[in-house]
Amino acid sequence: MSSNINRDTFNQVMVPNYSPMASIPVRGLGSRVWDQQGREYIDFAGGIAVNALGHSHPELVQALKEQAEKLWHLSNVWTNEPAIQLAQSLCTKTFAGRVYFANSGAEANEAAFKLARKYAYDHFSADKHEIISCVNSFHGRTLFTVSVGGQDKYREGFEPVPAGISHVPFNDLDALEAAISDKTCAVVIEPIQGEGGIMPASKAYLMKARELCDKHNALLIFDEIQTGVGRTGQLYAYQAYGVTPDILTTAKALGGGFPVGAMLTTEPIATALNIGSHGSTYGGNPLACAVANKVLSLIDSEEVLNGVEKRHQIFIEQLRQLNKTAPVFSEFRGMGLLLGCELQPAFKGKARDLLQLALEHGLMLLIAGPDVIRMTPSLIIPEEDIHQGMQRFTQAAEQFLQQQ
Ligand SMILES: *Cc1c(COP(=O)(O)O)cnc(C)c1O
Repeated sequence: MSSNINRDTFNQVMVPNYSPMASIPVRGLGSRVWDQQGREYIDFAGGIAVNALGHSHPELVQALKEQAEKLWHLSNVWTNEPAIQLAQSLCTKTFAGRVYFANSGAEANEAAFKLARKYAYDHFSADKHEIISCVNSFHGRTLFTVSVGGQDKYREGFEPVPAGISHVPFNDLDALEAAISDKTCAVVIEPIQGEGGIMPASKAYLMKARELCDKHNALLIFDEIQTGVGRTGQLYAYQAYGVTPDILTTAKALGGGFPVGAMLTTEPIATALNIGSHGSTYGGNPLACAVANKVLSLIDSEEVLNGVEKRHQIFIEQLRQLNKTAPVFSEFRGMGLLLGCELQPAFKGKARDLLQLALEHGLMLLIAGPDVIRMTPSLIIPEEDIHQGMQRFTQAAEQFLQQQ
């Protein structure tokens, strides 16, 4: 089958909303991936912060197979053991008292935003429906989540969008204070803006947001879809910041590659999503939850979480080295294994060119906007793969410079 499928076939049968790379990967193991032609790549992209335990992790494969042989799906007319177990461990490991399962990040956010509105409607009034979000934030691609997201390009052409949403500059304490009122039902923040260029929130900003939400009876929502499940070296970034939200959304790494999302909240807030108020056919599906249970138990260990910080240091050290050999970057940002490399002003808009060159040298990278190279590798990427990947990256950066 694979022999007569190629990148041109994609153009013939797919809606043209993506523009994937020319080669088609067919196999992965750990932090290495092979394409149809047998070319090998080192994976610093990790499926956009999803493959947190690399490709084909034997224990995840085992968990998936075991559950597949027992029970795949029932719908939420019945509950299932893996879903209850997963909710139980998310509650044990975080501030949460209640969990809602979805199949993606956008769906988890959709549930969070609906819950915030419903909670305010139940406890205050229909007037208290305003949602404050940040400029350049990203919260998913459904109509509600692109509306809350702070990037115009994802909304353009899809209007009219839901009302009652405003955007304030990220990390600006005064702007948030000026925007919030008793009509605000929720403030939504990514502790580190991912798609927006790997921009960490300041601790003072998150603390101020917490204080302002308490003052105005608004819920604080942290979108940890990219920062969660060990990415920053803590299970969730809010734990590193020491600021606790009322609602947290998690997806991406939660399933290690199997689609699953979750919205975490406290018991008193959860009551607003009463019977019949919201739902999903697949959310909490036993296959997804069985895999996520295994992901969570493997990642929430000292070995893996401490390893994230150790690998962070190696990456930063080697990136500085790369930048001496081939000075292309002006700044390195991020926490743990959520890393952003800002291109020098002279190379503005050329992140995709560098990514393309890296691919030609056998390295998978990501971008976060036109000026930033993003890396979200496996949390357990072997040191040897980091070293080899950085060698390939250096060669790509040198070639990039020659082409300027
Ligand atoms: C990826 C992402 C989403 C959307 O998740 P999907 O699974 O693509 O719907 C939402 N918020 C943040 C911060 C993300 O990084």
